[in-house]
Amino acid sequence: MPPAYKLACVVWELTLGCNLKCLHCGSTAGGRRAREFSTAEALKICGDLKKAGCQGVALMGGEPLLRKDFFKIASRVRELGMELSVITNGTIHSEEIFESLKELKPRAVAVSLDAADPALHDRIRGMEGAYEKSSAFIARCLKDGLPVSVITTVHKLNIKELAAMRDLLKGRGLAWQVQTAGGEGGRFSKEFLLDPEEFYAVGLFVEACRREYTAEELPVIGAHDLGYNSLLLNHVSLYENWEGCQAGISVAGLRSDGEVLGCLAMNDVKFSEGNALKTPFYEIWNNPDAFRYTRGFKKEQAGANCAGCRHLDNCKGGCNEMSLMKTGSLNNDPYCFCSLEKKLFSDELDNPVKKIKLMLQGLADRNGYHALGRIFSGKRRKRDES
Ligand code: SF4
Ligand code: SF4
Repeated sequence: MPPAYKLACVVWELTLGCNLKCLHCGSTAGGRRAREFSTAEALKICGDLKKAGCQGVALMGGEPLLRKDFFKIASRVRELGMELSVITNGTIHSEEIFESLKELKPRAVAVSLDAADPALHDRIRGMEGAYEKSSAFIARCLKDGLPVSVITTVHKLNIKELAAMRDLLKGRGLAWQVQTAGGEGGRFSKEFLLDPEEFYAVGLFVEACRREYTAEELPVIGAHDLGYNSLLLNHVSLYENWEGCQAGISVAGLRSDGEVLGCLAMNDVKFSEGNALKTPFYEIWNNPDAFRYTRGFKKEQAGANCAGCRHLDNCKGGCNEMSLMKTGSLNNDPYCFCSLEKKLFSDELDNPVKKIKLMLQGLADRNGYHALGRIFSGKRRKRDES
């Protein structure tokens, strides 16, 4: 029987252990979990993922390269015909790492870089010298022909870095993923979370980059949950359209203690659908009662923000992690772009340019936001003209 839900990607936390102490880390990584997969268990789980129809695996942490068996697990993923992505902080280097990565032919090697200013990056990442190491990792991957993408997680501490990051990364043959910080991590003060105007400005920034640069110059990708269903902007993620939260629909998260979640960003065991160390992953994935919050969504479940929205059938109340963080309930995301636009530009949705400019000026007037305030400067090229 073919699986009812086509599993495009499992995001697999190989360990919670990490050599950095990033302020915004949603899982507060640092020490390992009390119980993490053994090598044999991890290799068996690779087979279980394949049996679930999994097409691609993204290995992350913590810092996944801290696991001595990293390449055994990554190789098994590839031997089984699944695509491989690696998400690393880029501070652990060795000849063996780069040589082995090349052999594995990964779909992507994603390296975190949060600022163009080395001191700020180091401060956010909790390690002096982290910027230098991660930059060297990126440069080496590029030299080796690996498909590198840089991930920048935006919050109040680094939003002013976006323009400098763009200038640092363009023309280097890498992709840039821009995402926003959630408030789940234990080291992250909620005061650093983006407010609605800043969150929307990140979407504007991505849009402006995509108009200004061709995909060869700088492919900029908004995270899949960075605003959607905009009344004004093109969709900022890699995908043409927002199809609703994909937790349990086409993606799943696997924690290093075996817990299976729809999405690792909803990192609470109450959202676990089972433990892959006790029940084979494919049984958990194929359980018709699993992931009810997305698979079994009914309009009546939508919260006040989403009730009556014309996108509700498709959108199902947006990003559940954002919804939980902002409202304490699922299917009620108040940070989708159409909700933000109604709030921010309510009376001028037909001609919002003036209001957008005012909003950006307001951000620019607050210390440190000048670079972001100039995002519409320079030549502008629509994506379909590139
Ligand atoms: S209001 Fe809710 S259903 Fe409508 S687009 Fe926003 S998140 Fe989706
Ligand atoms: S909870 Fe948000 S981040 Fe997670 S899969 Fe759903 S939309 Fe994506």
